[in-house]
Amino acid sequence: MSIPGTDELTAALAGSLLPAPDLTPFNPAFPIHPTALISAAHEQDVATAVAWAARHGLRVGVLATGHGLNAPVEGDTLMITTQRMTGVRIDPGARTATIAAGTRWAQVIEQAAPYGLAPINGSSSAVGAIGYTLGGGSGPLSRTYGFAADHVRRARLVDCRGEVHAIDAESDPELFWALRGGKGNFGVVTELEIDLMPVADLYGGSVFYSDAATHDVLHAFAGWSTGLPERVSTASVALLRLPPSPALPEPLRGRFVVQVRYAHLDGAGPGAELLAPMRAVAEPLLDTVREIPYTAVDSIHQDPVDPLPFWDGGAGLTGLPPAAVDALLEVAGPGRDIPVPLVEVRLHGGAMARPPAVPNAVTGRDAAYCLSAIGLMTEDTSPVTPGLIDDIVGAVAPWHSVSVPFNLIGPATVERVAGLWNEQDHARLLAVKHRVDPAGLFGGGHTIA
Ligand SMILES: Cc1cc2nc3c(=O)[nH]c(=O)nc-3n(C[C@H](O)[C@H](O)[C@H](O)COP(=O)(O)OP(=O)(O)OC[C@H]3O[C@@H](n4cnc5c(N)ncnc54)[C@H](O)[C@@H]3O)c2cc1C
Repeated sequence: MSIPGTDELTAALAGSLLPAPDLTPFNPAFPIHPTALISAAHEQDVATAVAWAARHGLRVGVLATGHGLNAPVEGDTLMITTQRMTGVRIDPGARTATIAAGTRWAQVIEQAAPYGLAPINGSSSAVGAIGYTLGGGSGPLSRTYGFAADHVRRARLVDCRGEVHAIDAESDPELFWALRGGKGNFGVVTELEIDLMPVADLYGGSVFYSDAATHDVLHAFAGWSTGLPERVSTASVALLRLPPSPALPEPLRGRFVVQVRYAHLDGAGPGAELLAPMRAVAEPLLDTVREIPYTAVDSIHQDPVDPLPFWDGGAGLTGLPPAAVDALLEVAGPGRDIPVPLVEVRLHGGAMARPPAVPNAVTGRDAAYCLSAIGLMTEDTSPVTPGLIDDIVGAVAPWHSVSVPFNLIGPATVERVAGLWNEQDHARLLAVKHRVDPAGLFGGGHTIA
C-alpha cells in the first residue's frame, strides 16, 4: 500500500490492514474505497487507528455489519471495521449486558436468554448492537420498554485524538446525552453497558394475507392499532413484494402479500384475544403467531438475512387516518409494479413516547407510527429507486410528525439530519460535536454539522 505512514500503522496494530474488497457489508449498494481499511482486534487498535487518521488529516468511518451504510466511502477516510471485536458479558443480578463494538444482537439475545432476559434489539438480530443503539433503536420490545438508547448505562469511546474515555451520566452528561441518539458523530464506541429486560418469551409472529386483502387489512390495522395496550410490544403492517425464493413458505413465494407483525408479552390468552379482530379481517395465507422463546424474535418481522443492495427512507407519522392509508396504497399498493420489497408502518407510542430516566438525544419520540420503505438498488433499478422511496415517504407528508428515528431515515443530506431535532436540541448536539470532534472526523453519511 502506498499511503505514507501505513507501515507505522500496521506495525502498531494487533489487527490488520485489509484490502477493501474483503469487506462484506449487508448493504452493498454503496462503493467502499477508503484511503485505508483496518480490521480492529480490540480497543487499542481503534485508538491507534483514529490517532493515525487524525495525524494524516483523514476522516474516520466505522463499519460493523453494513446494515446502516447510506453513502459511498471514497478517499480521505480511514475505515475501521469492528467485525472482530465481538463479545458479551451478562450480569444477571444487575440485569445488564456489556457488549463490544462489533457484536450483533443475535449474540446478546442468545447469551441473555438463559437468565430470562432480553435486550431491546431491532427487527433483525443480524444488525449491529452498537450502531443500532446509538441511532435510538426501536424494536419488538420498544412499545413496552422504550428505545434501546434509553437503556444505556455506560459507554467506552475513542475520541478524535485516539484517547479512550468511559462515559456515563456523571462523567460527561452532555456527551452521554448526545451519544444516545446522535449516532456515530462523537467518536468510536468500543463498548456499551445496557439494561436487559425481563422477557423470556413472547406471543408473537406474523399473519400474512393475499394482495386482494390489502385494502381491508391496512384500513383495519389503522383502526385496531389505535387501541392497543403497551403489553402489545409490536404491532406493524408491511406491504411485501417477495422473490420466488424456495427459502420462503410456498404460499408467499413470488407474491405481493400483506404482513401483520405482532408481539404480546403476556402469553397466548390476552395475546390472541387482542389479535382476533385482525385475524378475522380476511383469510390468512399463513399465520405464524404463537408462543415463542425470545431467541425466536426474528420470526416476528422475518427480515432478510442475506446481503441486499438497498436504498431506504422513512418518516414518523402523527396518525394513520383512512386518507393516509389510501395515500400509501396509491403509491405502494399491489397495483404498482415497483422494485420496493418492503413498506412498513410500525406502531409507536407506549414507552417510546415517554422521556427516559436519563434524557437523551433520541429522535422520533413524537411519532405515533413510523413508516419505512426499502427499495432495491440493482443495476436496473438504481436509477429509479431513490425517487420511488421519496414518493412513498412524500405521499403521507400531511401526516409527518416532527421527527423520525435516526436509524430509519436512510441516505440523507446534512439538512435532513439536522431537521431530526428541534433547534434547541440541534444546537445542543452541535455544541457537543464541536467540543469533542472539532475537526469533524466522525459521522460518515449521517454527519451532524
Ligand atoms: C434489515 C434491517 C433491519 C433493521 N431494523 C431496525 C429496527 O428494527 N430498528 C431500528 O432502530 N433500526 C433498524 N435498522 C437500522 C439499523 O439499526 C441501522 O442501520 C444501524 O445503523 C445499523 O448498525 P450496524 O452497526 O449494524 O451497521 P453499520 O452499517 O456497520 O454501521 C452504521 C453506522 O452506525 C455507526 N456505528 C456503528 N458502530 C459504531 C461504533 N462502534 N461507534 C460509533 N458509531 C458506530 C456509524 O455511524 C456507522 O456508519 C435495520 C436495518 C436493516 C438493514
